[in-house]
Amino acid sequence: MRIDILSLFPRMFEGPFGESIVKRAVDRGLVSIQVHNPREHTHDRHHTVDDSPYGGGDGMVMKPEPIFEAVESVTGLIGREAVPVILLTPQGRLFSHDVAQELSREPNLVLVCGHYEGVDERVIRHLVTDEISIGEYVLTGGELAAMVVVDAVVRLLPGVLGSEGSARDDSYARGFLEYPQYTRPRVYRGWEVPEVLLSGNHQEIARWRSEEAIERTLLRRPDLLAKAVLSEEERSLVDSIKARRGFN
Ligand code: SAM
Repeated sequence: MRIDILSLFPRMFEGPFGESIVKRAVDRGLVSIQVHNPREHTHDRHHTVDDSPYGGGDGMVMKPEPIFEAVESVTGLIGREAVPVILLTPQGRLFSHDVAQELSREPNLVLVCGHYEGVDERVIRHLVTDEISIGEYVLTGGELAAMVVVDAVVRLLPGVLGSEGSARDDSYARGFLEYPQYTRPRVYRGWEVPEVLLSGNHQEIARWRSEEAIERTLLRRPDLLAKAVLSEEERSLVDSIKARRGFN
């Protein structure tokens, strides 16, 4: 996969992409991430990327020309027509595991980070193909949102997680929150690890984990269970947990 990010602040990406799983995925050639500054696509002496809004009002708006030219130079490099061009914006569709999975199947992504009051509407109408929000709040810029999207997408790419675990049981992957995790020591400040996890009985452990995942999802996010595709065993576990906990 190749991800191109347009940002007025490319150095913001150095920390998050220079560590841990994303860095290793890049080092292993599983993903390539390039950050481009729209400022390099300006033609005036001051490299102007923003201007005041028509109609008046506070703040500045990102001008269309540097964004169009930066995206066109990237799509020209990739040599493809149908590359998703995604604007990070609080007005976009809400980012989720399903959206991350959808994006992880694309060979190329172009992410556009807004700043100030946002981007000129013509960028949205005539250049971007998708708009994504990472939550119902307003950030200062699209950079943190792009980092969230890249991290969530990259960890779903085949081979990226490797020995660091699998995304299969992660929260949201199958419509549940993940079961509780424990590690050594066996007793910490008097709090013990559940006996079943020490039993070595893999069937019992798997059942305990399913029950815990379902119970926790019922308590915290019943909306997820309502749309999960459950096996027969999971369905009967849900019913017995509901009966035990007095859910209807
Ligand atoms: N005036 C805009 C509005 O009210 O919709 C908000 C602009 S915000 C200060 C600047 C930039 O931050 C946006 O253009 C977008 O790229 C990014 N941004 C802010 N909140 C975001 C969110 N929840 N998800 C994704 N990007 C966001």
